[in-house]
Amino acid sequence: MKIATGLVQEVLEIVKKRNPNEPEFLQAVTEVLVSIEPAVQRHKKYRDGKILERIVEPERMIHFRVPWIDDKGQIHVNRGYRVQMNSALGPYKGGLRFHPTVNGSILKFLAFEQVFKNSLTTLPMGGGKGGADFDPKGKSDNEVMRFCQSFMTELFRHVGSDTDIPAGDIGVGGREIGYLFGQYKRLANEFTGVLTGKSLNWGGSLIRPQATGYGAVYFAEEMLKTRGESLEGKVCTVSGSGNAAQYTVQKLNRVGAKVVTMSDSSGFIHDKNGITEEKLGFIMHLKNVRRRRIKEYAERSGVTYVEGQRPWDVKCDCAFPCATQNEITKDDAGKLLDNGCYLVSEAANMPSVPAAVDLFLEKKILYGPGKAANAGGVAVSGLEMAQNSMRLPWPREEVDQRLRHIMTTIHKNAWNTAAEYGQPGNLVIGANIAGFVKVADAMLDQGVV
Ligand code: NDP
Repeated sequence: MKIATGLVQEVLEIVKKRNPNEPEFLQAVTEVLVSIEPAVQRHKKYRDGKILERIVEPERMIHFRVPWIDDKGQIHVNRGYRVQMNSALGPYKGGLRFHPTVNGSILKFLAFEQVFKNSLTTLPMGGGKGGADFDPKGKSDNEVMRFCQSFMTELFRHVGSDTDIPAGDIGVGGREIGYLFGQYKRLANEFTGVLTGKSLNWGGSLIRPQATGYGAVYFAEEMLKTRGESLEGKVCTVSGSGNAAQYTVQKLNRVGAKVVTMSDSSGFIHDKNGITEEKLGFIMHLKNVRRRRIKEYAERSGVTYVEGQRPWDVKCDCAFPCATQNEITKDDAGKLLDNGCYLVSEAANMPSVPAAVDLFLEKKILYGPGKAANAGGVAVSGLEMAQNSMRLPWPREEVDQRLRHIMTTIHKNAWNTAAEYGQPGNLVIGANIAGFVKVADAMLDQGVV
């Protein structure tokens, strides 16, 4: 990564001092600020308006106690959060994560990234993120419901369809969104689009569950087009086996690629013959209904299972990280490159450590950073909001076409911006500057707030 200089260095020092022990937040802020420095140098208005100093500080951060009772009658206490990062472009928008690792640093990094990602979608959405250090794994449906109800009993004061509209993320899928919505409706006495990722028969949008994965594949197709190539026949590795991973694999199959890996936090499976749609059906049932480990896929089909490892030393043309942050280390990036991988499209948020990103950029592979490549999820959430406001559902083809159009636009915007700043093909710089400029201009228009 380029070394920060001048104003950016000063702002990073402030961030470091104000946010001690928040490595993920500092990592995300450093990556963005260093890459937008040319835009800040070019435009005095951003320096005079103290945009950098303002944009790194959340507009509001809420954390709260979430007490709940398990099936045995024992009381537990978790910590809930909502980070309302920036509302220059619209109401706060971003997912909720339920995972034992959740803390202020991780949610601030995610909320910060979300601001630029939402800007890139071209839809009117600010950025936020929230969640709790609750682990839904091994909990009964009733326990998850009681937790969600307790979580929303506090959160409902801070959200609303024109204020802040959460969605899902790790550990928060259709089941959790349902319980959260039910409790919001009860407390607020209104049926509005306060959450996205809802079920189809009560306000959800077609293609929302598929959107993050499909979007990451559409983004990969756009990157390949710049070299006159397509995904047909490409061997792909995918990490994760949750929402983002499942629909990445589904779409890769549909465009003629061959997916050879998927994983969970225990290990990965390697199926040399390809995880076809039929085999994916088994994984979806395993993960979404039975809520078991990916290892069972290997036990059933006799393919390789590697305990405790990630899939990055498996030979592939294209890699789709779909699990979590910092899951591609510098070593992993080296292995991917050594094995001939020349495209990385990030469905997960910040899955590659900075040194891995540097390697990808240095070797000039096709690299789609998360805030661009995985923006399809929030984009269709934005479309769900539009449908909720109109009280009119759109057909599948229309939502899918809009998603594809948005992903193409994001790629084009990032590509053109990179060229404009003398870094052709560098989609990190392109996406960060394109996302930043729109938010910064809106902040200037709205005065010192
Ligand atoms: P899910 O909870 O549906 O799935 C997460 C997957 O990643 C699971 O397979 C999980 O394994 C694995 N995983 C989680 N944490 C770790 C870890 N620390 N190490 C290894 N594997 C891990 O979440 P999503 O699919 O929704 O989210 C995945 C990524 O995509 C996240 O980075 C998220 O922020 C990002 N994203 C998601 C969007 C969405 O619309 N859902 C939108 C944009 C980005 P296990 O089952 O063992 O926990």
